[in-house]
Formats: sequence, structure tokens, C-alpha cells
Amino acid sequence: MSGSGRKPDPKILCLLEEVRRRRKRFQEAVLRWARANLRSFPWREERTPYRVLVAEVILRRTTSTAASRIYEKFLERWPDIHSLSKAEAGELERVLEAVGYHKRRARILIDMARHIERDYGGVIPADMASLLRVPHIGPYIAGAILSLGYGVPAAMVDSNVQRILSRCFHKYLPGKGLAKTIRTVAEMLVPSKGHVLFNLGLLDLGALVCRYNKPRCDECPLRSVCDLGGMGHG
Ligand code: SF4
Repeated sequence: MSGSGRKPDPKILCLLEEVRRRRKRFQEAVLRWARANLRSFPWREERTPYRVLVAEVILRRTTSTAASRIYEKFLERWPDIHSLSKAEAGELERVLEAVGYHKRRARILIDMARHIERDYGGVIPADMASLLRVPHIGPYIAGAILSLGYGVPAAMVDSNVQRILSRCFHKYLPGKGLAKTIRTVAEMLVPSKGHVLFNLGLLDLGALVCRYNKPRCDECPLRSVCDLGGMGHG
């Protein structure tokens, strides 16, 4: 947060202290809500690092309904990194047509698979630093592969989660470096036990409750730990 030799930013220290103070209540609220409300999708049922990787690329900029239509078909045709690394771009594009951006998506999947095949012997890496070296894998997909695919606690910060955290800690967040700070907050909040349920719960809370427009604060489990809960957002 502050480079070596620099004084720690008092605002950041204050934020981190506040996150520590609310952490347990935040975690419990998300887990309780997730147990009762988690949505069901094919990519959430059987999770392997490869299935998570494919799901995250297919789900970008499309609806879960469209993604559901091709997900299993895709996995039957290309069941692992090796087969995907040998995929013919035209055939891949035809399958991906249903979710849009098919040329770009096909290119991304082939690039990723070839890189993993060449540099990691076809095994998707199980650590953040190696995952981030794979083309097109950023912190969100890396976090998803670690948490959902490998069962390693890791934060998954997409735009939904970013919105929840920026609202919950609104009074404490600095104006600059927001994305990086929110990532730090997310990493502090993710529990070591129950991180899969917690991560999926946060994603669904962002989609269903803490929506971009008209967040439903009145029915939000995070209301008691949120700076903006009930302040004109109900
Ligand atoms: S209380 Fe409202 S603003 Fe806060 S996290 Fe919940 S829905 Fe979002």
C-alpha cells in the first residue's frame, strides 16, 4: 500500500482497521445468505480448474442463460487443456457463436491453452503468480481458479464484488488507487474455511441485491456492516 521507506497512508491504515473490525460479521452475513440463496448453474456443480477457466471465459460479457446453452457441449468437445490447445479456431468460433465475441473468445481460449500446455505441461497452475503469467488471466480469473477449482482461499473481485465493497466501506476508501485498495480489502475478508460459498455468495449478492441501479438495501444481509445501507439506496 505504501512503498518501502514511505510513511503508511493514515487513511489506508484506518480502512484496514475498520475491515478487521467488521470482518467476522461481514463473513457470517455473506455465508448465511449464500446458504439460502445461492443460484445454481452448470459451472457451479462440478468444479475443476479447467471447468472454471472455461466457464469464466464463456461468461464474460454474456448472460448466464446463453452460457448455459453451450457450456456442456463445449466440455464434451474439448474436455481438457490438451484438446483445447489443438482446437481448430473455426470450429471453436462456431460453438462460441451463441455467446457472442466468438472470434475474440476463441483466440483467448486457444492462447491460454497453448501457453499452459507449453509452459506448465498442460496443468493449470495452482498459484497466483504462475496463473498471472498466462495470457488473458487476470486477478479475477486467477482467484476463481484457485478458490473454486483448487479449493485454495483467494478473493474473486469482479465488478459486482467491487461495487459491494466500495459501498460497504465507502467512508473509509481513498479516492486514488481504488481498484488496488478494494482488492486488498477483498483479500482480508475472504475466509479460509467456506471461501467457495463466500465468493459465490458475494457474486450473487452483487447480481441480485446490491445491484448497480436500485440496490435492495432493505433485504440486504450486509446492511449492518455497510456504510451506505439504508441511506437512500433502498
Ligand atoms: S446495504 Fe445496500 S448498498 Fe450496502 S451492500 Fe447492501 S445493497 Fe449494497
